[in-house]
Amino acid sequence: RMVSAGHSSVGEEALERALRPKLLDEYVGQTKAREQLEIFIGAAKKRSEALDHVLLFGPPGLGKTTLSHIIAAELGVNLRQTSGPVLEKPKDLAALLTNLEANDVLFIDEIHRLSPVVEEILYPALEDYQIDIMIGEGPAARSIKLDLQPFTLVGATTRAGMLTNPLRDRFGIVARLEFYTSEELSRIVRRSAGLLKAPIDDEGCFEIARRSRGTPRIANRLLRRVRDYADVKSDGRITREIADLALAMLDVDPQGFDVMDRKLLEAVVHRFDGGPVGLDNIAASIGEESGTIEDVIEPYLIQQGFLQRTPRGRMATKAAYLHLGLQAPKDDAT
Ligand code: ADP
Repeated sequence: RMVSAGHSSVGEEALERALRPKLLDEYVGQTKAREQLEIFIGAAKKRSEALDHVLLFGPPGLGKTTLSHIIAAELGVNLRQTSGPVLEKPKDLAALLTNLEANDVLFIDEIHRLSPVVEEILYPALEDYQIDIMIGEGPAARSIKLDLQPFTLVGATTRAGMLTNPLRDRFGIVARLEFYTSEELSRIVRRSAGLLKAPIDDEGCFEIARRSRGTPRIANRLLRRVRDYADVKSDGRITREIADLALAMLDVDPQGFDVMDRKLLEAVVHRFDGGPVGLDNIAASIGEESGTIEDVIEPYLIQQGFLQRTPRGRMATKAAYLHLGLQAPKDDAT
């Protein structure tokens, strides 16, 4: 999926980095998380202490990585970045932890994917700034305690429910990132267009914004594709009309849904009679992993009121039928 998957090529990643806001003031939206962090960061700085550990959760592309970099910048400390799947052995994490300077930030993306043995050594590190490491092997093996500098762990995950309880309990600050409004995304598109030196008018910004699934990463990506289109097909200026043509070419529909969104809605409506249908059945039917459906595709459909999560499975709402050009079934309780 070119448009809305969380992955991107190397060039795209460099561009994404370049578009990242550097300070809290430039970070659009997420008022609640921003206000909280502003206070806690201010207090930590005043006392010259490490900020409490922070857990950020929410769908991909909403700004978790960006926010972790901002936290370090606002604190005036270094940031070390890694991810759950990369930390295979306890010694991988130990190496990172022992290299931290006082009050540094360690960012672990996809923290729900830490292996249990690695997670185990994280607990005393988070609680007492200490780790136990094993020296030697066999009967001569012994464990020694190492003191660490005080530090802040910023963990990011798509679903807080996937963390083990003991890990979740060790975060003093928990912030859930929400989908952005079209107005917020418009501001992000305008800022990014400025950085990319792409001429765009207000309506062009808004058209891209409202079709970006509430997600800054998608807004920035669509902006770049629309810019390409404007450069080739017209004089480079991005208007509502140009945005509309380019987005239609990219299979982003007027609601902002992409091919996978529509595939999912169509499957639930046509193959499963509107549901309720289990996640695994949907996954098998559309050829997508259930994890991707749960993390990437359905949160936005649910937030927009096209899909419902019930104890018996997923159900298409009236809005989904209407979106597919169908009449909603009469007995549809939604
Ligand atoms: P996540 O880590 O949640 O997957 P990122 O932090 O990588 O998301 O954000 C993806 C892109 O979206 C970044 O390149 C950044 O430019 C942009 N972005 C995210 N949040 C914001 C925001 N609040 N304001 C402006 N741009 C943002």
